[in-house]
Amino acid sequence: MRPVRFAYARPRTAEEAVAELRRHGPLARVVAGGQSLLPLMYQRRERPTALVDLGSVDGLRSLRRDGDALHIGATTTHRAIETATGPDLRGFEVLPEAARQIAHLPVRVRGTFGGSLANADPRAEWCLLATLLGAEITALGPDGVRGVPIGDFLLGDGRTALGWDEILVGVRLPRPAPSAALAEFGWQDGSLPVVAAATEVELAPDGSVTAVRAALSGVADRPVLLAEAERVLVGGGSGEQPLAAAARGLADTLDPPSDAWASGAYRRELAAAVLLRSLRDSVSRATTSALARTTSQEASR
Ligand SMILES: Cc1cc2nc3c(=O)[nH]c(=O)nc-3n(C[C@H](O)[C@H](O)[C@H](O)COP(=O)(O)OP(=O)(O)OC[C@H]3O[C@@H](n4cnc5c(N)ncnc54)[C@H](O)[C@@H]3O)c2cc1C
Repeated sequence: MRPVRFAYARPRTAEEAVAELRRHGPLARVVAGGQSLLPLMYQRRERPTALVDLGSVDGLRSLRRDGDALHIGATTTHRAIETATGPDLRGFEVLPEAARQIAHLPVRVRGTFGGSLANADPRAEWCLLATLLGAEITALGPDGVRGVPIGDFLLGDGRTALGWDEILVGVRLPRPAPSAALAEFGWQDGSLPVVAAATEVELAPDGSVTAVRAALSGVADRPVLLAEAERVLVGGGSGEQPLAAAARGLADTLDPPSDAWASGAYRRELAAAVLLRSLRDSVSRATTSALARTTSQEASR
């Protein structure tokens, strides 16, 4: 099937893009990489009257350190993040790791960070990491710029706090802990995960968990922060057994939906498994980073 007829605008600035949205009205759509929108248009599940293409907008394709945070411009591609190096990315290594797990190369070359967040697929890796890290979204509309915390931005499957005449221009991501990790399960390589987990932990010298942050996707209509993780894991002792018990206990509190990919009960089992994998990785990374710190302190004495 072909998409319905639509007008097309290729603005040069973000302000012009907003003006084009206003000119064409609420049935106009922004297009960035087109990797989610175009398939829907070909299936006629999306029938925009106009596309406002962000491909030539200056300044939106950027990765820049902003103090302890990373600022990611909306049209930065998954591939640009996957292959990014240099001092600005130091401490953000979990981002290229996550990018590698998104889709296939041709999709990663075109699909954008901002497009993924604006698309608000509850299973998307960027929505999960943005939730774990407490990202702030910058939106531009006719009244200027506003910041929206990720928890207020993602409103459900395909729904965000963006108004019809607003565009997402960038995202501020606080620096992850050195232990940050992401684990996922999908039916096929290169497809959206069914369930994914992202975690950060801090450890005491005896290896027990002193702080934790954990988020899961694929268990609700948007990624969820596991508020109970701290209570369940901190003070639980070290080693595999407390991690496994915590992952199981946290998964058992969930009531995931059933759909074509998995039943709710199966998603709960997956949640326990991917959460445990991510926690194990986080503990291992926290241990390695503590060892590296001790070694460098000893070397500098
Ligand atoms: C085969 C395949 C496999 C995939 N696998 C994965 C996967 O494993 N993980 C994953 O997360 N995703 C996956 N995806 C989805 C896709 O990669 C992302 O959703 C996509 O990259 C979104 O970015 P985009 O730039 O292509 O957005 P587009 O398709 O251009 O836009 C998506 C939506 O966001 C809106 N939008 C885009 N940019 C902005 C903006 N700056 N401001 C306001 N609104 C905006 C559009 O209007 C549209 O509604 C897959 C897609 C395909 C085709």
